[in-house]
Amino acid sequence: MRKTCTVVFCLLALAAPVALAFQQQGEPRGAFLGAGESAGMSSVWFWAGVYVVAGLVFGALAAHRALQTGNRALAWFGVGFFFTLPGYLYLLTRPKKEMAAPAGVPHGLQKIAATSAPEPCPACGAMNHPAAAQCIACGGNLAPRFVSEAQRAGGAR
Ligand SMILES: [Zn+2]
Repeated sequence: MRKTCTVVFCLLALAAPVALAFQQQGEPRGAFLGAGESAGMSSVWFWAGVYVVAGLVFGALAAHRALQTGNRALAWFGVGFFFTLPGYLYLLTRPKKEMAAPAGVPHGLQKIAATSAPEPCPACGAMNHPAAAQCIACGGNLAPRFVSEAQRAGGAR
């Protein structure tokens, strides 16, 4: 959550001077979005652009939050895109859904814990992740060297 706040703050800090510069300039120079120097950019198109950029930012934030709270990411991206900040704030009021992790690698998740410092099982000698509580080969109990990321995130094992 703190990381998300930092990202938002950085985006706002970056966007504010750019927006101000464009406003003061009145007529942005050609390179931006291929606008010709003579054509200039009407304020309608400028604010439409701001709306789209804000929509993408809040859509991404909403999708990120939805993934973490067990909600449907694509649907909430849409909410964040069209309603921007109010949509994102509405998502923050939604309750967190229970995310059950079945045994094995959950559906849609392809990352499998790997390590460059495996620990041998005292019973069978098979190499295991140092955070493993059970041997991957014989199922015997192991003494985990540290808490795994999955455990810290509230997952099983
Ligand atoms: Zn073993």
